[in-house]
Amino acid sequence: MDLKGKVALVTGGSRGIGRAICEELARQGSDVAVNFASRARAAEETVALVRTLGRRSAAVRADVGSREEVRRMAAEVGCSLGPPDILVNNAGILHAGTLLDYDNAEFETMWRTNVKGVLHCSQAMAPGMIDAGWGRIVNIASNAAIGTAMPGTTLYAVTKGAVLTLTKRMAFELSPHGIAVNAVLPGFTKTEMVLGGKSDHEVQRLLESVAAKSLVGRTGDPEDIAAVVGFLCSPSSAFMTGQFLMADGGRQDYLTHV
Ligand code: NAP
Repeated sequence: MDLKGKVALVTGGSRGIGRAICEELARQGSDVAVNFASRARAAEETVALVRTLGRRSAAVRADVGSREEVRRMAAEVGCSLGPPDILVNNAGILHAGTLLDYDNAEFETMWRTNVKGVLHCSQAMAPGMIDAGWGRIVNIASNAAIGTAMPGTTLYAVTKGAVLTLTKRMAFELSPHGIAVNAVLPGFTKTEMVLGGKSDHEVQRLLESVAAKSLVGRTGDPEDIAAVVGFLCSPSSAFMTGQFLMADGGRQDYLTHV
C-alpha cells in the first residue's frame, strides 16, 4: 500500500492497458480517476473494479485533445477525489498509414490525441503536484517510437517519438519540483487497439507471428505494462526520472538504431 492517500488520474482508463493500470495503482493503495473519451459504460466498469479493491474512484469524460475539456476534467477530479498526485498519460489512438499513403486528417487526429493530449493533461495537473512537492507522471509511448517493424505504423510512430521527447523535456522542467517523469514503451499488447475489427483467424495468425518474434515467446497482456507503470509510480523508482522503459518481450524484428 505504498500509494495510500494518493490520487491518480489515468487517461484512457476505460479499457485495455489503461484499465489494467487503474487496477494496479488501486492495488498499491491509490484512489483512481478514470478518464474516457466516449465509452462511459466501460469506464464505469473500471471504476467498479477499483472500488472492489477498496479505493475511491470516479469516471471523468474528456477528450484529451481539447485543452478546455482537460481543464474541466482537472477541476472535476479535484472536486471528486482531490488533485492528482499521479498522472498516467495513456490515452492514445492508432491509425494505420505509410509515408506514401497516410491520410492527413487521421494523422492530425492522432497528433492531437497522442501528443497534445500528453501536453494538455500534464500542463493541467503539474501545478497541483508542484504545490504538493511530489508527483509522478508516466507517459505511455510505444516501441514503435524507436524502432522499425509493423508496416503501416510510420505516422503513429512519429507521434510516439514526440512523446519520448516530451518525456525528457518534462523531466527537465518538473523534476526539480519533486515530480518524476518517465515513459513506458509497450510492445504488442492484446487490446482492441491492435486486435479490433479482425476475425478470430486473423487474430490467431497475428498473435502467433508476433509471439514468434519475441524472445519470451508470447505477446503482451495489459497487466505486463501496468506492472511497469506501477513500478514507476512507486517509491522503488524514487531515483529515476526522464527514463524510457521498454516492455515488449524482447522483440527480435525491431531495428532500434540506437
Ligand atoms: P485501446 O484498447 O484502444 O484503449 C484506448 C483508450 O484511450 C480508451 O480508454 C479510450 O477511451 C481512450 N481514448 C482514445 N482517444 C481518447 C481521447 N481523445 N481522449 C480521452 N481518451 C481517449 O488502446 P490500448 O492498446 O489500451 O493503448 C493504450 C496506450 O498504449 C496507447 O497510448 C497506445 O498507443 C499505447 N500502446 C499500445 C500498444 C498495444 O499493442 N496495444 C503498443 C504500444 C503502445 P474510450 O473507451 O472512451 O474510447
